[in-house]
Amino acid sequence: MKVCVIGTGYVGLTTGVSLAFLGHEVTCVDLDQAKVDMLRGGKCPIYEPGMEDLLAEAAQNLTFTTSYEEAVPGADVVFVAVQTPSAEDGSPDLRYLRRAAESVAQSLNHDFTVVVNKSTVPIGSGNWVDAILRDSFVQREDRPEGVEFAVASNPEFLREGNAIADTLYPDRIVIGSDNPRSLEVLNRLYRPIINQTFTPPTFLPRPEDANAVPLVSTDLASAELIKYAANAFLALKISYANEIGQLAAKVGADITEVARGMGLDQRIGSRFLQPGVGWGGSCFGKDTKALIATASEYNLDMPIVKAAREVNSRQRAIAVERLQDELRILKGRKIGLLGLAFKPNTDDLRDAPALDIANSLIARGARVKLHDPVATGRFRIEQPELAAYLSETIDDVFADCDAVVLVTEWAQYLELDWSKFVGLMRTPILLDGRHVLDADRMRRLGYRYVAVSG
Ligand code: NAD
Repeated sequence: MKVCVIGTGYVGLTTGVSLAFLGHEVTCVDLDQAKVDMLRGGKCPIYEPGMEDLLAEAAQNLTFTTSYEEAVPGADVVFVAVQTPSAEDGSPDLRYLRRAAESVAQSLNHDFTVVVNKSTVPIGSGNWVDAILRDSFVQREDRPEGVEFAVASNPEFLREGNAIADTLYPDRIVIGSDNPRSLEVLNRLYRPIINQTFTPPTFLPRPEDANAVPLVSTDLASAELIKYAANAFLALKISYANEIGQLAAKVGADITEVARGMGLDQRIGSRFLQPGVGWGGSCFGKDTKALIATASEYNLDMPIVKAAREVNSRQRAIAVERLQDELRILKGRKIGLLGLAFKPNTDDLRDAPALDIANSLIARGARVKLHDPVATGRFRIEQPELAAYLSETIDDVFADCDAVVLVTEWAQYLELDWSKFVGLMRTPILLDGRHVLDADRMRRLGYRYVAVSG
């Protein structure tokens, strides 16, 4: 099928490259010329494991452009995967989406095109996009005859760092539309994934437990709500572990064991129960905020979701308090942060806990040293006021340091020769922000090991 993808960020790029790999003819559009130039050269503008390999394997079916004119005409499916950041009032900023929809309408010329929202958008946005498309289309002087289109929602569940596997071997695919023909087109588009009939990429074999993928085919509003409801649930699961973690610290229980004991109950499940400095990234913060904002339009309160957000921001503050408890005085202390990206295997810094922790320490007069194995390039661009605090080497982070915080559990940090660094520190305080290090071993090596809960 002929596919157009608008936006080549984490979601759009993964969608476009994966569909091209499956044999569809895909054109990706982005307004950012530099991104398009990189992608044309086979280079990936984001850090996503495997993406450059998949780009190479899918190259013959893939085109990158800044021109809607080149991409939209003739497309059976147009995915819109532009960013939807939070506006001032907590509701999602839909300007990018509006602009994309208006541009798509200027170039529609096929007998039937499904315009699919892949961006996370508030409930009702499908109808809103439909209205924008229709208004913009009827205003076209060159409006072609016999053109039909319909809007669908196909929320994205990929995790950065695991984006390709999540796309090719997903837990489920959700498609929502009030137009049966759209559902049929999308069903056809995704058939190779639903039935798992494609030959896997050379670098990413099919997992042994991969089965046919359930397709949830529903109305527009339900598909839109599924995305928010799922993200808010994952966010509150982490916050719940953190709330229990604070109690565990008070009563002398080990939250890692508590979480393990809870998670083995299949009704609960062990994922997203890790205690620590909490969630970050581009989705949980803005999606929980958006859910609360949508509910308030219907005079509904969302106390559980609100509490999950409060617990999460408290965890970041607690990390700083733990350091203060240990050091007593933060002013003038040298404190190293290991990990800036909001989680391992991505360079995404949006709403990363490290940013709040670093800013809070700096505001208290500490001298911070920041390190990340992959995100420092992006950090320099997005956080220029903090760039002076970056360290190129781990030795530099530990040298004469009063405390080190493990903020992001990159494999590189877990595999460090920790015995080598303890002697470099002025005081060997190690705050494990993710509860992933072996406390006994760290203590044996000479660290004063502290965890966020405990
Ligand atoms: P992103 O910021 O990485 O990428 C968005 C891209 O769209 C950018 O490259 C930008 O230049 C481009 N763009 C903006 N306006 C455009 C326009 N009018 N025409 C063409 N290109 C345009 O965003 P992302 O992380 O990929 O997220 C996209 C959406 O998917 C968001 O709604 C997000 O909530 C949702 N989502 C993200 C993830 C994730 O893990 N990142 C997971 C699930 C859902």
